[in-house]
Amino acid sequence: NLTSRMSRVVKTLRGEARLTEANTQEMLREVRLALLEADVSLPVVREFIGRVKDKALGEDVVGSLTPGQALVGVVSKELTALMGGDLGPSAGELSLAQQPPAVILMAGLQGSGKTTTTGKLARWLAEGGHMQNGRPTGKKKVLVVSADVYRPAAIEQLKTVAGQAGVDFLPSSTDQKPEDIARGALDHARRYHHDVLIVDTAGRLGIDEKLMLEIQALHKILNPIETLFVVDSMLGQDAVNVAKAFNDALPLTGVVLTKLDGDSRGGAALSVRHVTGKPLKFIGVSEKLAGLEPFHPERMAQRVLGMGDILSLVEEAHKAIDINEAQKLAAKLKSGDRFDLNDFQAQLAQMKNLGDMGSILEKLPAQFAQAAGQVDPKKAEGQLRRMEGILNSMTPAERSKPELLKASRKKRIALGSGVPVQEVNRLLAQFDQMQGMMKQMKKGGMAKMMRAMGG
Ligand code: GDP
Ligand code: MG
Repeated sequence: NLTSRMSRVVKTLRGEARLTEANTQEMLREVRLALLEADVSLPVVREFIGRVKDKALGEDVVGSLTPGQALVGVVSKELTALMGGDLGPSAGELSLAQQPPAVILMAGLQGSGKTTTTGKLARWLAEGGHMQNGRPTGKKKVLVVSADVYRPAAIEQLKTVAGQAGVDFLPSSTDQKPEDIARGALDHARRYHHDVLIVDTAGRLGIDEKLMLEIQALHKILNPIETLFVVDSMLGQDAVNVAKAFNDALPLTGVVLTKLDGDSRGGAALSVRHVTGKPLKFIGVSEKLAGLEPFHPERMAQRVLGMGDILSLVEEAHKAIDINEAQKLAAKLKSGDRFDLNDFQAQLAQMKNLGDMGSILEKLPAQFAQAAGQVDPKKAEGQLRRMEGILNSMTPAERSKPELLKASRKKRIALGSGVPVQEVNRLLAQFDQMQGMMKQMKKGGMAKMMRAMGG
């Protein structure tokens, strides 16, 4: 299959020092196939491969990586960037800081998930889930209204959803004009001091002139701070045309990609992002109201690439603790700072980010695996959690000065993390071992450390 072919290519490319036209060609063909299989549209694939080539050719193959691994690293980085990784931490952030009500206009085809997403967003805002610059902005008073006057069932559906979300619902009816509903909802939200007004709209099965004119009129009246384009991730190739039509008609501020709980490979994310240039803000991962998540470019990149084997290749490319992190650590050692338990804690957290314990253990350089005292992945998983628990039960001061940890403090930490004192001792012994390794690396310099990390 695709991924095993890719890993074969990775292996055959071993031992070359630089990425070249020749040693990346076969690999790039596989990447292209992976993207097409994930339903990314052809022009987008072409441009993407071009970008990857530009970035990759001439690039040095660092440390113990093979050119194949280095290339996968470039692919994953570029894919993440294309998905919006270079937009900064905008995932799941909305512009709500303005004179209330902040209006959110939902746009998209029929069946894309607008009404469901309206409910999800309303619930999330009402529960105080929204963050700005990494800080919660508090619980919002939310009003929802339906401007879908073509189907009585659509208005009923929003009413039900609003009830489940525990937010205010402004009734509307099929006799009303969408424009009048919008004006009425604005008045109502102002009068009753709602922080946020979410306006659900009608959709058609296809792109439709009348529909576009209608939503443009709504946009003009509402002057929304967010205009979210809701798109079904199962749409595949067609996502390009639909996204283009909505992007041309409306000044979109963001995209919500729904139904990612299905077997869609997420290629639509790439196409939509490419066509609109707008940030993907949320994904829908269930029919239920809790099924809304901030969009993570990196995760989506992994999904599109086909996860599994390719993902593990990428992981290998970033090798256990990635090169940046290694360099940071090297700088730290050089500056005379000590490797302390705070660093140890950060490393454990990083390990957890990499995936499940079994595969991490396979990839960990032998010394690290030994230091962690693990063999059985299942046990390791549990032990990793307990180690984290122990470290979390320490104060930052204790973590930076482990010699503070005399018997009484150890007892407190053991109680706090629900383990016997011996386990606290064991962790400290492992830490000593690691610190010893770090000292050795310091003596051996950067090159030796990289080799040690490369296994
Ligand atoms: P609208 O026509 O754009 O308002 O779309 P709806 O909100 O009515 O959604 C259409 C269908 O898709 C409904 O059956 C929803 O339950 C379903 N749906 C919406 N979002 C998701 C999602 O993220 N995951 C799944 N599995 N189903 C979804
Ligand atoms: Mg609807």
